[in-house]
Amino acid sequence: MRFDIITIFPEFFTSPFDHGILKRARTAGLVSIAMHDLRRFTHDRHRTVDDRPFGGGEGMVLKAQPIYDAVQSLQVAPKAERERQKETVILLSAQGQPFSQAVAQKLAATERVVIICGRYEGVDERVNELLCDREISIGDYVLSGGELAAAVIVDTVVRLLPGALGNPDSSRFESFGAEDTAEDAVSADGLPRSTYGAGGLLDYPHYTRPADFMGVPIPEVLAGGNHEVIRRWRRRMALKKTLENRPDLLEKIEISDEDREILAELRGYGDSGAI
Ligand code: SAM
Repeated sequence: MRFDIITIFPEFFTSPFDHGILKRARTAGLVSIAMHDLRRFTHDRHRTVDDRPFGGGEGMVLKAQPIYDAVQSLQVAPKAERERQKETVILLSAQGQPFSQAVAQKLAATERVVIICGRYEGVDERVNELLCDREISIGDYVLSGGELAAAVIVDTVVRLLPGALGNPDSSRFESFGAEDTAEDAVSADGLPRSTYGAGGLLDYPHYTRPADFMGVPIPEVLAGGNHEVIRRWRRRMALKKTLENRPDLLEKIEISDEDREILAELRGYGDSGAI
């Protein structure tokens, strides 16, 4: 897979793409990421990429011409051909459609993603109309530029590429992971998997050594070795986290009878909190 990022700050990406999973994936040849300096596609002495907005108002707007030339130089397929060619061109914008794990999964199935990073007040809208297949926002807030958003998208997509993670299950069984099946819930040796953080719920809390840190012990159940009890505890904790931090997610999933009982208890309507 290949990413092409069009930006006025190509050096911005040196660090984010040079660590951990992203670095390994690049070294292993799973992904290549090329940064393209927008100023290379200007034709004036001052290498001007922006201009004042028509109609007046604050700030400057990135001009269409350098971005158009930058995309042309990448020889992406014409818009109508892109889906077939597994290519896509994205404009980063606070006005875009929300980025999510589902969008990341779609992008991971493509072979080439071109990302255009805006700056200032944004990008001349004709860039969107003429060149882009999607306008994406990474959240309901305004960044100074698209570079951080591009890094977020690249990171999220690359960890979904086959071979990017040491253990492929890591991306399946986490918050916003892929849907789970009952068979997958337990590993071949009977150990409960992180499975129970997926399926539309947030992940459950994790603990590692030492068993006591600053007087705070790990939950006793995790030291007990009873796989079924651990599974139920993890499920309960995933539901608790989701209820506390993202109750909206509970509206989007099919809730089993077991989960319904746990949720009733957590909301204080059911039996005691015992597992
Ligand atoms: N005037 C724009 C608005 O109100 O929607 C904000 C422009 S912002 C200061 C400059 C650039 O940062 C945008 O063109 C876009 O590329 C990027 N950006 C800002 N917020 C973003 C977000 N939530 N998601 C993705 N990109 C964003």
